[in-house]
Amino acid sequence: MRILVAGGGGFVGSHLTDRLLDRGDEVVVLDNFSTGRRSNLDHLASTAQVEVVEHDVTERLPDLGSFDVVANLASPASPDDFARIPLAILEVGSTGTRRLLDLALACDARFLQASTSEVYGDPEVHPQHEDYVGHVDPIGPRSCYDEAKRFGEALVMAHARVHGTRVGIARIFNTYGERMAPADGRVVNTFIVQALRGEPLTVHGDGSQTRSFCHVSDLVAGLTALLDHSTNGPVNLGNPDEFTVRTLAEIVIEMTGSTSRIDSIPMPEERTGDPAQRRPDISRARDLLGWSPTVSVRDG
Ligand code: NAD
Ligand code: UDP
Repeated sequence: MRILVAGGGGFVGSHLTDRLLDRGDEVVVLDNFSTGRRSNLDHLASTAQVEVVEHDVTERLPDLGSFDVVANLASPASPDDFARIPLAILEVGSTGTRRLLDLALACDARFLQASTSEVYGDPEVHPQHEDYVGHVDPIGPRSCYDEAKRFGEALVMAHARVHGTRVGIARIFNTYGERMAPADGRVVNTFIVQALRGEPLTVHGDGSQTRSFCHVSDLVAGLTALLDHSTNGPVNLGNPDEFTVRTLAEIVIEMTGSTSRIDSIPMPEERTGDPAQRRPDISRARDLLGWSPTVSVRDG
């Protein structure tokens, strides 16, 4: 297939690109490298089946030819970005998503939206199933991302209803792995970098908040299965193994053999509304796609 990966210069997008090339697809990466890095694609410099186009998807799209699949992963994703570039996040989630949906319709391509567990907000239901409609603060510091992603899902579904666009939505839970930008503020990479440097690990608050961490290789297998499938509803993709942030810090210290200590620091202002717990119910992904993660946090 010929596949457009918007956001393909980022952490997840570059791994998705690798996976698609490995199985014989042709890939066009569209990215403005606002949070992604060209070095994520350096290893593909001599691969003929991939083309990298630097472009902001909120601007009118260049003529890129026809596609069988349009995958929209273009969006900053770290809470540090929510404070730094909230307007750009809202713009890419709305205008950017609309432009890519229109392109998919024009090509009769399947459109895959990278959504997020953040659509559930600070959940009152645990674990989170796709039928849960969420608990989101529409004006807090996280709202630029959460509401952009919720708007993105609404846009995708409206496009499908009005135009018959073939769409899919992946609700991605916390994912980690190689090529995360070391200083983007997300927890796994932050703790590993701190541990390797012998600096204190900065646990926000008492560290009792939970997350469920999925290795990027598992996530990309799920995304690939979803882009090959025809289901149009949202599908949770994540690893249901749940850890407190403090336990994660302890595991990182153990696995790196670091002498770092663990410091509790106040929850940063820009993280107000930090979800207290998060774990995906992945029964839909299991049933529909035959997918489940295989990499434990320690192995990852
Ligand atoms: P990332 O920041 O590494 O990748 C995002 C990519 O999108 C970057 O390469 C960035 O330059 C690009 N981008 C941003 N705005 C753009 C624009 N206007 N035009 C073109 N390109 C643009 O983040 P990631 O972790 O790889 O996330 C990829 C996608 O997955 C995002 O949509 C994110 O919301 C979603 N997601 C990720 C996670 C996770 O844990 N990694 C969890 C939930 C959802
Ligand atoms: N976190 C932390 N220390 C850090 C970075 C993050 O304790 O240096 C916490 C953060 O407050 C949150 C969890 O780790 O409770 C996950 O944060 P991340 O930014 O990775 O993802 P998200 O909040 O989007 O789930």
